[in-house]
Amino acid sequence: MPFAAWPARDNRPVRITTPDPALVLLVGPSGAGKSTFAARHFAVTEVVSSDAARALLTDDAGDQDASAEAFQVVALIVNGRLKRRLTTVVDATNLHAANRKQYTRLAARYGVPAVVIAFDLPLPAYHERNARRAERKVDELVVDDQAARMPQALAELDGEDYLAVHVIREDAAEEATVERSRAGPSNL
Ligand code: GDP
Ligand code: MG
Repeated sequence: MPFAAWPARDNRPVRITTPDPALVLLVGPSGAGKSTFAARHFAVTEVVSSDAARALLTDDAGDQDASAEAFQVVALIVNGRLKRRLTTVVDATNLHAANRKQYTRLAARYGVPAVVIAFDLPLPAYHERNARRAERKVDELVVDDQAARMPQALAELDGEDYLAVHVIREDAAEEATVERSRAGPSNL
């Protein structure tokens, strides 16, 4: 499975090619820049967000009591979209293998390739960006826990079955481009 870390050694800008359709799993703690990236590179209807599902259920994107239902809603939409062979971006932390597996199983069922875009930043960056968020701010201890899981998640991703895993570091996301390829596999 191709594994690309950005910025590359020669500091080329991040150029990601995804097949279309694809299941795109965003991976990273709160504040990593997942929702910003998704909004910049994908259509609103392509992005299925656990925060948005919580908000739809409770009027509060941060209501953790609604998490179980929110993830059911996310899974239902992901299933419906992949069944229709539509590109689907899962905007959630996706730090646990079991959660990712739920989505990749659906992608495999419908023959849609799965790619990962992970955001691997130093701990203070998650906190700074989380503090700057316009919408809900996630509890600092929760961000600490999520960040602590990140190295393990990255190690797990390496052994999971994706067409490509892109790991974006530092501020490389800012200059990133995402191209759709109907031709098939991602060229890294
Ligand atoms: P999420 O929790 O992973 O969805 O993160 P968000 O997309 O909500 O981003 C959190 C904060 O970081 C927001 O205030 C964004 O404006 C900011 N942010 C997102 N991406 C970048 C980036 O690439 N560079 C910088 N400097 N800030 C970013
Ligand atoms: Mg977000």
